Amino acid sequence: MIRIENLIGGEFVSPTEFFDDISPLDGTVIATIPRTKNVEGAVTAAEKAQSQWSGLSLLQRCDWLDKIADSLESQIDELARLESLDTGKPHHVALNVDADRSVNNFRFFAEFGRNMKSETFEMPDATNYVMRKPIGIVGLISPWNLPLYLLSWKVAPALLMGNTIIAKPSEITPITAHFLGKVCTDIGLPDGVLNIVHGYGPEIGQAIVEHPKIKAISFTGGTATGKIVAATAAPMFKKLSLELGGKNASIIMEDADLEITVPGVLRASFLNSGQICLCGSRVLVHSSIYEDFMSKYLEQLQSFEIGPVINDSHRDKVMSYVQLAKQEGGHILAGGNIPDKPGSWIEPTVIGGLSHKSRTATEEIFGPVVTIHQFDSDDEAIQMANSTQYGLAGSVWSKNKGRVIAEKIDSGMVWVNTWLHRDLRVPFGGVKDSGVGREGGMWSVGFFSEAVNICVMED
Ligand code: NDP
Repeated sequence: MIRIENLIGGEFVSPTEFFDDISPLDGTVIATIPRTKNVEGAVTAAEKAQSQWSGLSLLQRCDWLDKIADSLESQIDELARLESLDTGKPHHVALNVDADRSVNNFRFFAEFGRNMKSETFEMPDATNYVMRKPIGIVGLISPWNLPLYLLSWKVAPALLMGNTIIAKPSEITPITAHFLGKVCTDIGLPDGVLNIVHGYGPEIGQAIVEHPKIKAISFTGGTATGKIVAATAAPMFKKLSLELGGKNASIIMEDADLEITVPGVLRASFLNSGQICLCGSRVLVHSSIYEDFMSKYLEQLQSFEIGPVINDSHRDKVMSYVQLAKQEGGHILAGGNIPDKPGSWIEPTVIGGLSHKSRTATEEIFGPVVTIHQFDSDDEAIQMANSTQYGLAGSVWSKNKGRVIAEKIDSGMVWVNTWLHRDLRVPFGGVKDSGVGREGGMWSVGFFSEAVNICVMED
């Protein structure tokens, strides 16, 4: 049994109340989590550490990021084991997706920081020097689907730019955030630079968003929670980054190369049991290749390995959409059932026969459930793809016109003949109800700093 504690000012401490972390694999209790309601101690510690941390040079902070990466990498199997334990995902996914990317987030921002150029703008009689100052204390709130992957994506650039941190991982998957805390104390990261508090979102998450000394909030989670975060933070003029939900389309054009398209679309549909904000949960297929595509897709689905969904209540939510789909006239082409075994399992499910405007096809399900729709023209595919409130990501599969179609999709990110192929320098984020702001490379650096200009008149 793992005992999770808060990391505050370099010490592992806890309030008196704890609650259980349950394994989605078999329902057993795997850890106890402190129910923290008050963020004052963490704010005091972060405030105390601020001047020392921001007083280091950018290059010194890059070295710290590399030290964190080195330590995580040297324990990468243990990191993957813990992520797999907490989320139920297969070990190879935890290792190759979660753990690998968590290390790379620190590595990437260390290297990015070293290569950052000074920003100056010459005038005929003066020079403008742009400085990037730390914001101060920043609040980082992350979800349960890719726990350390998404938290480290915020921690690394926040540290790079000289901020001190109060992080709150999802209460559903807190184990690897605790592991990161131990790594940082082991390597001697100065006390109070990274503080991690655990507990329920509406309690300690809300306390972070409300605290006047926490000057920026970077939030990844559901659109409904994002609205609460925005409503709380906006009147205080906090910097706000919101990475929210998605209902992404995989668009298969008539000239798609099915050799790469079928496994690619399958991966987009079901990786991490469909619990990635970027997953392609709506598959739009040109009617001329529908039969061919579907027979290969359903055949290859038989050998696609998935884990359970995150917990029983999420399983019930996902299954309620399978029921809704039936009421909306959908027919189940694969799956649709809960396997008879312990844990929060759902068969990978493919549903046909639904309108692309149905609730099942427009609301975020966030599980291993995909709806299939046919189209007859480019315009129809584009119009279907854009017909939800979300605009996070998407993929287009085509030999000749992928980029042309991709440019017409109202999403922050579109892949052509691939999916989840990530370059960490590019902007990451959504339009419409999928969020506000961008992360990645210079966009993260911009969010986690205050750009100020100094204009010096020449003699
Ligand atoms: P939630 O919105 O439920 O939770 C996200 C985080 O917010 C958790 O740490 C949660 O804590 C916390 N939280 C809950 N209520 C509040 C509050 N009032 N104030 C502050 N924090 C709060 O999302 P899920 O964890 O269920 O994650 C799934 C969602 O995340 C999906 O919609 C998915 O699309 C989205 N997502 C978006 C990504 C993107 O980059 N756009 C990437 C990955 C996921 P606790 O869990 O302890 O309640």
